[in-house]
Amino acid sequence: MAQRNRLPEDLTPYTGAADESILGLAPLSVGFLRRNAPFPTGQTPALFRARLLDHCLAEHTLQTSSMAEACGLGCGAPTLIYHYVTAHNYRPPEAFIQAVLKGPAPGSPEHRALLRTLQQG
Ligand SMILES: [Zn+2]
Repeated sequence: MAQRNRLPEDLTPYTGAADESILGLAPLSVGFLRRNAPFPTGQTPALFRARLLDHCLAEHTLQTSSMAEACGLGCGAPTLIYHYVTAHNYRPPEAFIQAVLKGPAPGSPEHRALLRTLQQG
Protein backbone atom coordinates (compact mmCIF):
# COMPACT_ATOMS: atom_id res chain seq x y z
CA MET A 1 0.00 0.00 0.00
CA ALA A 2 1.38 3.40 -0.92
CA GLN A 3 1.95 5.78 1.94
CA ARG A 4 0.74 9.34 1.72
CA ASN A 5 3.39 11.98 2.15
CA ARG A 6 6.06 9.33 1.85
CA LEU A 7 9.49 10.60 2.76
CA PRO A 8 12.33 10.00 0.30
CA GLU A 9 14.43 6.90 0.80
CA ASP A 10 18.19 7.05 1.18
CA LEU A 11 20.11 7.79 -2.01
CA THR A 12 17.02 8.64 -4.05
CA PRO A 13 16.95 12.03 -5.80
CA TYR A 14 16.24 14.90 -3.42
CA THR A 15 13.85 17.35 -4.99
CA GLY A 16 13.40 19.74 -2.08
CA ALA A 17 16.35 21.99 -2.91
CA ALA A 18 14.97 25.24 -4.29
CA ASP A 19 18.01 26.07 -6.34
CA GLU A 20 19.27 22.69 -7.45
CA SER A 21 19.28 23.74 -11.11
CA ILE A 22 21.37 26.77 -10.21
CA LEU A 23 23.76 24.73 -8.13
CA GLY A 24 24.38 22.25 -10.90
CA LEU A 25 24.10 19.38 -8.48
CA ALA A 26 21.95 16.32 -8.36
CA PRO A 27 21.45 16.04 -4.59
CA LEU A 28 20.46 12.73 -3.05
CA SER A 29 18.27 12.12 -0.02
CA VAL A 30 19.76 10.73 3.18
CA GLY A 31 18.26 10.42 6.63
CA PHE A 32 14.56 11.13 6.24
CA LEU A 33 13.27 8.97 9.08
CA ARG A 34 9.93 8.67 10.72
CA ARG A 35 8.22 6.57 13.30
CA ASN A 36 6.92 3.15 12.27
CA ALA A 37 9.13 3.03 9.17
CA PRO A 38 12.15 0.74 9.37
CA PHE A 39 15.60 2.19 8.84
CA PRO A 40 19.11 0.72 8.94
CA THR A 41 20.88 0.84 12.27
CA GLY A 42 24.40 0.08 13.41
CA GLN A 43 27.64 1.51 14.67
CA THR A 44 29.22 4.38 12.78
CA PRO A 45 32.84 5.48 13.12
CA ALA A 46 33.53 8.16 15.73
CA LEU A 47 35.32 10.28 13.12
CA PHE A 48 32.25 10.08 10.89
CA ARG A 49 30.00 11.32 13.70
CA ALA A 50 32.36 14.15 14.54
CA ARG A 51 32.60 15.27 10.93
CA LEU A 52 28.87 14.87 10.43
CA LEU A 53 28.23 17.24 13.31
CA ASP A 54 30.61 19.75 11.75
CA HIS A 55 28.74 19.46 8.45
CA CYS A 56 25.47 20.25 10.24
CA LEU A 57 26.68 23.60 11.55
CA ALA A 58 25.07 26.50 9.73
CA GLU A 59 28.37 28.02 8.67
CA HIS A 60 29.25 24.79 6.86
CA THR A 61 26.00 24.22 5.01
CA LEU A 62 24.87 25.39 1.63
CA GLN A 63 21.19 25.53 2.42
CA THR A 64 19.45 25.65 5.74
CA SER A 65 15.80 25.25 6.47
CA SER A 66 14.03 28.25 7.88
CA MET A 67 11.51 25.95 9.49
CA ALA A 68 12.12 24.29 12.83
CA GLU A 69 11.57 20.58 12.36
CA ALA A 70 10.98 17.98 15.01
CA CYS A 71 12.51 14.56 15.06
CA GLY A 72 10.49 12.25 12.82
CA LEU A 73 10.79 9.51 15.42
CA GLY A 74 8.82 11.41 18.01
CA CYS A 75 11.31 12.56 20.61
CA GLY A 76 10.83 16.25 19.87
CA ALA A 77 14.49 17.06 19.32
CA PRO A 78 15.59 19.16 16.35
CA THR A 79 15.86 17.07 13.25
CA LEU A 80 19.32 16.74 11.91
CA ILE A 81 20.90 13.63 10.55
CA TYR A 82 23.38 13.83 13.40
CA HIS A 83 20.53 13.39 15.86
CA TYR A 84 19.32 10.28 14.03
CA VAL A 85 22.81 8.78 13.99
CA THR A 86 23.62 9.47 17.63
CA ALA A 87 20.21 9.22 19.31
CA HIS A 88 18.52 6.57 17.14
CA ASN A 89 21.52 4.57 15.96
CA TYR A 90 20.64 5.30 12.32
CA ARG A 91 23.34 4.07 9.96
CA PRO A 92 23.34 6.07 6.71
CA PRO A 93 24.36 4.41 3.45
CA GLU A 94 28.05 3.50 3.28
CA ALA A 95 28.53 5.85 0.31
CA PHE A 96 27.36 8.73 2.51
CA ILE A 97 29.62 7.71 5.38
CA GLN A 98 32.60 7.50 3.05
CA ALA A 99 31.79 10.87 1.51
CA VAL A 100 31.73 12.47 4.95
CA LEU A 101 34.98 10.74 5.94
CA LYS A 102 36.89 11.33 2.70
CA GLY A 103 35.43 14.61 1.48
CA PRO A 104 36.79 18.01 2.42
CA ALA A 105 36.52 18.61 6.17
CA PRO A 106 33.99 21.31 7.12
CA GLY A 107 35.79 24.57 7.67
CA SER A 108 38.86 23.49 5.69
CA PRO A 109 40.05 25.80 2.91
CA GLU A 110 38.94 23.22 0.33
CA HIS A 111 35.46 22.98 1.86
CA ARG A 112 35.08 26.77 2.14
CA ALA A 113 36.15 27.16 -1.49
CA LEU A 114 33.61 24.54 -2.56
CA LEU A 115 30.81 26.31 -0.66
CA ARG A 116 31.78 29.66 -2.18
CA THR A 117 31.68 28.15 -5.66
CA LEU A 118 28.27 26.61 -5.07
CA GLN A 119 26.87 29.76 -3.44
CA GLN A 120 27.86 31.79 -6.50
CA GLY A 121 25.76 29.46 -8.65
ZN1 LIG B 1 14.73 11.69 17.87
